[in-house]
Amino acid sequence: MSSGGFASQNGAGGPYSNGPSQSPVGVFSSNQGFMAPPQPGYINTVPSKGPPQPQSHPIMHRSTPPLFQPLANSVNHAPPVMNVMAPPLPPPAAVRGTPPLPPPAHSDGVFPARPGQMPRPLTSSYPSLQPAYQSASSAQTPPPAQTQLYTPPPAQTQLYSQTPPPAQTQLYPQMQTAPAQTQLYSQTPPPAQTQLYPQTQLYPQTQTASAQTQLYPQTQTASAQTQLYPQTQTASAQTQLYPQTQTQLYSQPSAAQLSPSLASLSLQSQPPESLRVVNLLQERSLLPPGSVPPPVPCLPHDLQKMNCSPEVFRCTLTSIPQTQALLNKAKLPLGLLLHPFKDLSQLPVVTSSNIVRCRSCRTYINPFVTFVDARRWKCNLCHRVNDVPEEFMYNPVSRSYGAPHKRPEVQNATIEFIAPSEYMLRPPQPAAYLFLLDVSHNALETGYLDVVCQTLLDNLDSLPGDARTKIGFITFDSTIHFYNLQEGLSQPQMLVVSDIDDVFLPTPDSLLVNLSECKELVQDLLASLPQMFSRTMETQSALGPALQAAFKLLSPTGGRMSVFQTQLPTVGIGSLKPREEPSQKANAKDVQHLSPATDFYKKLALDCSGHHVAVDLFLLSAQYSDLSSLGCISRYSAGSVYFYPSYHKQHNPPQTERLQKDLKRYLTRKIGFEAVMRIRCTKGLSIHTFHGNFFVRSTDLLSLANVNPDAGFAVQMSIEENLLDLQTVSFQAALLYTSSKGERRIRVHTLCLPVVSSLSDIFAGADVQAITALLASMAVDRCVTASLSDARDALINAAIDTLASYRSSVLTVPQPGLLTPACLRLLPLYILALLKHKAFRAISGRLDERVFSMCQLKQQPLAFLLMMVHPGLYRVDQLTDEGALNINDRTIPQPRAQQLSVEKLSRDAAFLMDCGTVMYLWLGRNCSPEFLTQVLGVDGYADVPLNMIQLPELDTAQSSRLRAFIDWLRERRPFHAVLHVIRDESPLKAEFMQNMIEDLSESALSYYEFLLHLQQQISK
Ligand SMILES: [Zn+2]
Repeated sequence: MSSGGFASQNGAGGPYSNGPSQSPVGVFSSNQGFMAPPQPGYINTVPSKGPPQPQSHPIMHRSTPPLFQPLANSVNHAPPVMNVMAPPLPPPAAVRGTPPLPPPAHSDGVFPARPGQMPRPLTSSYPSLQPAYQSASSAQTPPPAQTQLYTPPPAQTQLYSQTPPPAQTQLYPQMQTAPAQTQLYSQTPPPAQTQLYPQTQLYPQTQTASAQTQLYPQTQTASAQTQLYPQTQTASAQTQLYPQTQTQLYSQPSAAQLSPSLASLSLQSQPPESLRVVNLLQERSLLPPGSVPPPVPCLPHDLQKMNCSPEVFRCTLTSIPQTQALLNKAKLPLGLLLHPFKDLSQLPVVTSSNIVRCRSCRTYINPFVTFVDARRWKCNLCHRVNDVPEEFMYNPVSRSYGAPHKRPEVQNATIEFIAPSEYMLRPPQPAAYLFLLDVSHNALETGYLDVVCQTLLDNLDSLPGDARTKIGFITFDSTIHFYNLQEGLSQPQMLVVSDIDDVFLPTPDSLLVNLSECKELVQDLLASLPQMFSRTMETQSALGPALQAAFKLLSPTGGRMSVFQTQLPTVGIGSLKPREEPSQKANAKDVQHLSPATDFYKKLALDCSGHHVAVDLFLLSAQYSDLSSLGCISRYSAGSVYFYPSYHKQHNPPQTERLQKDLKRYLTRKIGFEAVMRIRCTKGLSIHTFHGNFFVRSTDLLSLANVNPDAGFAVQMSIEENLLDLQTVSFQAALLYTSSKGERRIRVHTLCLPVVSSLSDIFAGADVQAITALLASMAVDRCVTASLSDARDALINAAIDTLASYRSSVLTVPQPGLLTPACLRLLPLYILALLKHKAFRAISGRLDERVFSMCQLKQQPLAFLLMMVHPGLYRVDQLTDEGALNINDRTIPQPRAQQLSVEKLSRDAAFLMDCGTVMYLWLGRNCSPEFLTQVLGVDGYADVPLNMIQLPELDTAQSSRLRAFIDWLRERRPFHAVLHVIRDESPLKAEFMQNMIEDLSESALSYYEFLLHLQQQISK
């Protein structure tokens, strides 16, 4: 495609069918093009910024530090930082002989604590806030004056619907032509203009001192408070207080007045509903009927409509605090949740020989830059003014000249570039897939090898790649077996290497072969492998040496290593000892052995990462296999971890079904090789801690040997410099990768968010799901650096701190109850769900299952993480088409989500519980015989088989409705959910009941008790 070309790439099929397949090739990132050259040596932790901040609630004496300490206590209670060593990029010419990277001498744990560095004093934000408040001479402005500002509502609506906000015009002049501006001022009545324009409109809370006093109740008199919130005394009054319509809203003083900026910026997109005061002790039905919608940032409509999709890019706070001090006061974590390589149904792809980027900070041009004039644009991250290149003046979409702001790069917050050669350091490498298979007696006994070989055979032609795709196999027990698959052989040739202390490649050139040229040999091998070892009595496992061999084989090209392991590695380097203690069953308060027993797997992962090899681990095991050690191999090489506990082909059919379906997705999903992801943000903000599977190469650069569409990432941020002069800030994630068809591509996502100066605005924009996901990742780190009980306490404290801050700093009238703004009403429930989640629950279970749950919290994108933390519960025995979705001629019922409590179950009904990777169809004892017959095909309750995992395809309306609903739920995730039909006698009933998060359990509080606990702590 010629320079300036533009194409649209459409994904095929449903969200988790695979998009257009790509071909294999590999390339290095360029020094000048995309990323800064890798920094050799050690990457130190990010220094903590700012002075220790006193706890704003001194009454709350706690031994456990809060989970997030944005700046303040980070020296003492540092959030874990990816403190790992940066492997230098291998020199392109001499890959094969490259010695292993220097061992990370200081890598004494997965999450070394941040070294205690002297905190840099933070310039106090309050003095600089003063000028803004000085104009607030009307300190005693009575509420009527405020009311006047917003009334009459029709006028206000008119103002914003007809006249673009002046501030907006000022911010993004490229969106407005000069005549529009002129018109704007001629239409707006001068007094209003004077009053509103420009800052006061965006930040009207700085207008009056009453707004200020609202934020800082200690300076306020009780009468003033009463005046501000005359009717917020009881929950029932609240319910009536904030009706949906604007007219009513502004006719009464309401929560909206806490944040006039929200109202003025975007009346439509951010209803003040988010600040409605909710008394959790009284309001029980908190769940929305369907899924919880992400908050919409409070931006002008034309900016918001171009903003990045929340499915790809979310921030815990959709309104960014102006200062770190303000953020600290809110006691909310600030971070980003990313799903950067998500399968997208629509993705604009641009081919350009000259990708336009800021000359100073290398930001890609995006919808949120400003055009100073037709020839110059101002970077929204560093504010440098750049020239518009001549060729950017031409718009390939409209085929017109002279409108750079209409270019696709400036119209799409998510866009992909096909990168020119300057983004490569070596020629594109072929896609390379290496399979490393456990063939010990234990492994063969589970029957997994049949499933893996058969699934691979079935999908061999669907592996992403092109004519150059390479494939190879290694099997291992106490020795290592290579397979010569060279073209011309009549059958695969097995080569056994028994010296596991010094592994070498017997025939280096014929072990990783061209798939299309050697396909028959590969098919032969896959067909015969399960038989070859069926009688083995070899029980040992030399996983470590096998991994070393696989690394040697794959390191010249880079690629993907898929490891299947069924037991603890017992011989050679990397062998492990059982560490699970049966005594832990009694008391899981402090679970041991959550950190790795050896750094072998981490070191090897870093070597792999340096050579663009990612390692995916499939652990299928009935016994303890030390996932906390083995998982490091995937974690630091940007791989994925899959776990099938108690896997057995015959004895555990649901696990077999899961493995088959997961494996199909795994083998055929899109893949990017040799990837790096850089996350940039507007000057003043700074990124410090990353969560996910990757290697941190420099402060904002993640090395991803592979990137897959199912991987999620999170980062924590702090505010280093005050954002006082900014109305918005932006975040940009740029993912440079090599497609499986050998193209170097860059996928760029840009998210724009408003900056706010009041606590109420911060709270109004809080994204409870993103906050929960970030807290979960932080708590996983805390488990490893401190202890499980410490992490649990920190989670509880996060909820206490946030609600206490809301109560003391946003609410001004003392009210009874446990109060939250509506947007955070699910926070205590989600925190309780985390406390009862397998990762953090206090009752003991299998250690590997706990560790795997922790891996999931770190590697799953937000949407799937939430499924696992807070399952969906739906009554399904009376599904109707009312309110159903219609997708491609399918009618999908949408039953209402229910609270996770036994009191919601009814003996004469049936309920579906969706926990992410498993679903339960629970049947009440008195469930209608009609449902049993029409949906399950049985005559009575007692006839329901105890191990039923599939619904029969019956030709009844009830059956098709339920199956359509379950299919639809399953399609919305990239992993398979097994279905268990259960009744009272089913062995899995206990597991089902354990997910009733709101109920009292053996070791944990009920939701109501938990709320009382929070209230007690807050009012201490
Ligand atoms: Zn810049």
